[in-house]
This record gives sequence, C-alpha cells and structure tokens, in this order.
Amino acid sequence: MAETLHIVGGGMAGSEAAWQAAQAGLDVVIHEMRPLVETFAHQSGDLAEMVCSNSFRSDDDEQNAVGLLHWEMRAAGGLIMAMADRHRLPAGGALAVDREAFARDVTQTLTALPNVRVETGEITALPDDGAWIIATGPLTSGALAEAIRTETGADALAFFDAIAPIVHHDSVDMSKAWMQSRYDKGETEEERTAYLNCPMDRDQYEAFIDALLAAEKTEFHEGETAGYFDGCLPIEVMAERGRETLRHGPMKPVGLTNPHQPDIKAHAVVQLRRDNKLGTLYNIVGFQTKMKYGAQTDVFRTIPGLENARFARLGGIHRNTFLNSPTLLDDRLRLRSRPHIRFAGQITGVEGYVESAAMGLLAGRLAVAEAAGWDLPAIPATTATGALVTHITGGADAKTFQPMNVNFGLFPPVDLKGGRRNRPARYKAYTDRAKADWSQWLNAGHAGRAAAE
Ligand SMILES: Cc1cc2nc3c(=O)[nH]c(=O)nc-3n(C[C@H](O)[C@H](O)[C@H](O)COP(=O)(O)OP(=O)(O)OC[C@H]3O[C@@H](n4cnc5c(N)ncnc54)[C@H](O)[C@@H]3O)c2cc1C
Repeated sequence: MAETLHIVGGGMAGSEAAWQAAQAGLDVVIHEMRPLVETFAHQSGDLAEMVCSNSFRSDDDEQNAVGLLHWEMRAAGGLIMAMADRHRLPAGGALAVDREAFARDVTQTLTALPNVRVETGEITALPDDGAWIIATGPLTSGALAEAIRTETGADALAFFDAIAPIVHHDSVDMSKAWMQSRYDKGETEEERTAYLNCPMDRDQYEAFIDALLAAEKTEFHEGETAGYFDGCLPIEVMAERGRETLRHGPMKPVGLTNPHQPDIKAHAVVQLRRDNKLGTLYNIVGFQTKMKYGAQTDVFRTIPGLENARFARLGGIHRNTFLNSPTLLDDRLRLRSRPHIRFAGQITGVEGYVESAAMGLLAGRLAVAEAAGWDLPAIPATTATGALVTHITGGADAKTFQPMNVNFGLFPPVDLKGGRRNRPARYKAYTDRAKADWSQWLNAGHAGRAAAE
C-alpha cells in the first residue's frame, strides 16, 4: 500500500484512525496543530488529550450502549481502549482514566511506530488530492472551519450545538400525551400525527416557569457565546424575558386538541418531534437549555406525560463544530463532494470521547480497505459502531441534526415480549446481537483482506 494517509487532528478520533491504519501497513502522517496553535480547552501538546472529565463512562458491555462500544473497540484491537485499560483508575462501573498518563502513552505508542509521523502545524485548507481523514473535533481551528464552510455551505457546518433533550418514545405516558401536528397539517396520516404533545394547565405552566427560573445553570466559557444568542435562545433565557414568552414560542397551545380532554383548552403544550427513522427517539422542540443535567431531569419530568421519561440525551449549548453529516457524508464517512476526504470524530456529529474514537476506528479501517482495494462490507446497524454511523449518515433527520451519544434508541429494535418490565433482557438482547454481528463484520474484513492479498 503505497499511498500515505494524512490525518488532520491527533485527538481521540485521529489517534485511533492512525493506529488502525498503521497496524494494517499504511504510512500515516498526523497533522496536529497543538502546541503551536492552541484551543481554549486543551492543555498540552499530547495526542488524545481528554479535555474535560476523565471518564469513558459505563464499562458495562451487557446493559449499556457505551460499554458495548468499549467492547467493540477492544475486539477491533483499538489503541484508545487499550490505553484506557492500561491507565484505568478505580471508579465503580465506570471506566475512569489517568488522563495525563493516557495521553502520554498514546503519543509515545504512535510516534514509536516506524510508519507514523506527526507534523506539528495547522491545516487551513481542504486538500485537493491524496487520502485524508479530517478529525479536528469540536474545536476545529477557525481557518479550517471556514474552508469547510466554503465547501459545504454555511448551513451545513454548525459552530454550536444547541441541543434539545431527547426522550425514549416508550417512556412517554400516552394516557396524557397524544400525537398530532399543529392544525393537522400534512398530506398523509403520518405527517398529520408527526408530533407528540404534552398539555399543561395554567398551574402546571406557572410551576414549570418557576422551576425553570430557579434551576441551576452552567456558565459559558469565555469567548464561547459569540454568534450564538441570535440563533436560538435557551428556554430559561426565554422565561427570564417574560413568563408568557414560552407560551407564545415553543409551548404555544394553538392548533391542537387533546383527545383525552377534548373540551378543555390546554394553557400550554410541549411538543416532541420524531428524531430518528425508527421512531424510538423524540426531541423536545425548542428546548435547548443550559440547565445542569440533574436540574433538567427534575424540571422536564414535571411535564405531564414525561413523569417517567428516560432521556437518550439531555439538552445543552456548547461550542462545537460539526457537519450536517446526513446530507454531506456517505455511509463510508466520505465527503460526497470530495470523496478522497473522510471525516471522523466529533466533527461528524457524534458526541463524547468514546464515540469519537469509534468513528476514528471506523474511518481508519475504511481508509485502509480503500487503499488496498479490499471489499469491506457495510457495517451492521445492529452494532454500537454501526448504529452510530447509520444515525449520523442517514438515520437522523438532517433538518434537526444535533450531535448524538451512543444509546439503544439508535439500534433497530429487538423482538422481545414484556415491554419495559423486561428492560435488562432487552438490553442484553441488543448487546448479544451486536457482539455477534460485530465479530462477523471484523472477520469479513479479515477475509476481504486475505482475498485481496
Ligand atoms: C470544552 C469541552 C469539554 C468536553 N468534555 C467532554 C467530556 O467530559 N466527556 C466526553 O466524553 N467528551 C467531552 N467533550 C467532547 C470531546 O471533545 C470529544 O468527545 C472528543 O475529544 C472529540 O474527539 P475528536 O478526536 O473528534 O476531537 P479532539 O479530541 O478535540 O481532537 C481534535 C484535534 O484536532 C486538532 N485540530 C483542530 N483544528 C486543527 C487544524 N486546523 N489543523 C490541525 N489540527 C487541528 C486539535 O488540536 C485536537 O487535537 C468535550 C468537548 C469540549 C469542547
């Protein structure tokens, strides 16, 4: 394999992609701008620096989707997981990591490889030829972000994620909520019933506003807010502007009739919109927020119908550069308009260290297969890695696309009787199926390689 693979960004994704490609025999150059050019969050010049918490979250590979992602990356010989395991700290069921030793070891391991070279410097333009992976993360430098924006169009690259909370559909109490689009708009029955509605009477609305105003909020980092506030206000900021603002905004009750109480006009209505093709996840429309996570669950569970809601992710607003991947990337993570460039990591619209590293692992393997002319079959959507990549490159609604953590709501449902009472059995069925399919996919990759050699 003569072609050199260029990887821009030596973070979680770039480091894993480099490892996968180098292990398969490709020459790799990692272009990392730190420490020459810094970001507001990174502290060192090491590769794979963990910028905030030192946790890879749950390590339970039977009952937890991120634990399953750990399992898949370990099975694929991933560097990030091997280093996390080597520098593990006691943390109960979570995988906590000694961050400095971890990043140092990733850096030393990669730079010790004869076919990996690190070039320090900022990449400011999209390359015209060669094989490239761009893994520059949520804090992609301004010049490169501008170059990407010129290529993709302004609407296809976001600089903030204003995330509304996402709820598992099967945790909504449908004896209180109902499905209806405002004014029954839509050509088909599916469109006319596209939204899930949760009604509030006056007292419930007033109590909700009080809870919003009193809730604990997180603060913005310095320099983080520029260009954001015009776009989409957090609900608590709307509530601060006036107690009625939300009732005239995302919570307006017009054009809706509650079939459970058709004669009573709701004072306010919270609407949830389908978030994936499977219909397992719903986002709360217009509910981006800077409330702390604990406060969010407390406040949102006061909404009638959401008393027992399980959240696939909570809301937030962060500095985050990410692509509208459903429109821009193909299922092999290639930029449709320039297929010699792949994207990986958080910039593809996944969220978190582990998810970012997983997209790096996949991009590295896909780049190797392409360079060598191997036939790498499509990654099964039943695996954690596959569920994520399927979501970002097609399963998610492009219009409302926001970064996503791995969760079981992204997986095609398993056929198990017993509903929620059987959640442990259901999660075990998801993870058993994923492990079998992931192992098969890895083996198919090896077979493709052997056939080509
Ligand atoms: C403030 C903050 C806090 C976070 N906290 C957490 C957390 O607690 N837990 C969690 O799971 N996730 C957290 N995240 C998300 C986390 O950043 C990502 O999950 C993960 O680090 C992303 O991996 P990545 O490889 O995509 O990007 P990164 O790990 O950020 O790596 C990208 C690399 O690209 C480099 N780079 C950028 N632009 C260029 C360029 N033009 N040329 C060359 N190099 C460039 C950067 O220096 C960086 O090293 C946080 C993100 C931020 C911004």
